[in-house]
Amino acid sequence: MTDIQILPVDEIKKPVSDESNLVFGKEFTNRMFVMEYDTGKGWHSPRIQQYGPFSLDPAALVLHYAQEIFEGLKAFRRADGQIALFRPRDNFERFNLSARRMCMPELDVDFCLKALRELLKLEQDWVPHSEGTSLYIRPTMIATEPVLGVKPADSYLFYIILSPVAAYYKGGLSPVKIWVSDEYIRVASGGTGEAKTGGNYASSLYASTMAAEKGYDQVLWLDSVHRQYVEEVGSMNICFLYDGKIYTSPLTGSILNGITRRSILTLVKEFGYEVVEHALTIGEILDGAESGRLTEAFGTGTAAVVSPVGQFTYKGRDVKLGTGDAGELTMKLYNTLTGIQYGQCPDDHNWVETL
Ligand SMILES: *Cc1c(COP(=O)(O)O)cnc(C)c1O
Repeated sequence: MTDIQILPVDEIKKPVSDESNLVFGKEFTNRMFVMEYDTGKGWHSPRIQQYGPFSLDPAALVLHYAQEIFEGLKAFRRADGQIALFRPRDNFERFNLSARRMCMPELDVDFCLKALRELLKLEQDWVPHSEGTSLYIRPTMIATEPVLGVKPADSYLFYIILSPVAAYYKGGLSPVKIWVSDEYIRVASGGTGEAKTGGNYASSLYASTMAAEKGYDQVLWLDSVHRQYVEEVGSMNICFLYDGKIYTSPLTGSILNGITRRSILTLVKEFGYEVVEHALTIGEILDGAESGRLTEAFGTGTAAVVSPVGQFTYKGRDVKLGTGDAGELTMKLYNTLTGIQYGQCPDDHNWVETL
């Protein structure tokens, strides 16, 4: 591949000074990375250019049949001023798995990491400084070929955009209220659950809107076949401290293979817990919360790191978990993982790469 061209930017915006008011995903930096793909030609024209709208043909395949994938990761500013990325290679490797599932062209992972580093060097003033803030990174691929036929496209656009984000938690980790969906599912067995593709999120909106209307923070998704086994919560993986062991759903194809999930599983093993990759049923969870066998539950994902669960509601049955504060293990995991990301804890696994 040719070198990355750096195109001039017409107008330079300064990063917002009030970092406490950043709304997730609303503000974007001055520049983005872009490249194109055409069948027969491969990926070409890699460039860093002014952030701004694309011109797309109204028949572009992505707009009709949703051939689209994305990733989400963060850059952190450390106390010494260095900028750190957390397991970025894992994100681009997962991007390629999503690409394969959606019949889209794969990317050269090393080239993507290089492109991201170049973009971040130009935009480094946008990595916010306050505690808990970060620069959210969104690699995306869309099918651009203008044809109304259901088939993999012959042309694609890949881009990376950057968005400064406020600390997820202001004043401590607060447990969330979860609505367990018994009627709607996120993905079916054999579907696209393992791919980070837009359609999975579009189809989750109906249930999450209903949950929000009823005053819940997130939806807990059950498996599509038995409507019993717990799969994910919102767009996070979920872990349970049950009988003193860590339970989480196995990677059977219908859940996303989270990078936070895999990092948390490594940490809990080091803390001395047994990890059981087995899906608990919703009955086991509700009964476990009442009997005391289930002591903590938390979602895991890049945005929140860990998100403690304080209540489950399933078919009108409300079950509370814990005392209203995040559990002890949940807190320890949050502090350890964010400590590694921000450079306050040793990075024994070489998860962090600095710019
Ligand atoms: C992105 C995502 C996750 C979390 O993955 P991380 O790599 O930990 O950010 C979990 N579930 C779904 C559905 C997701 O889209």
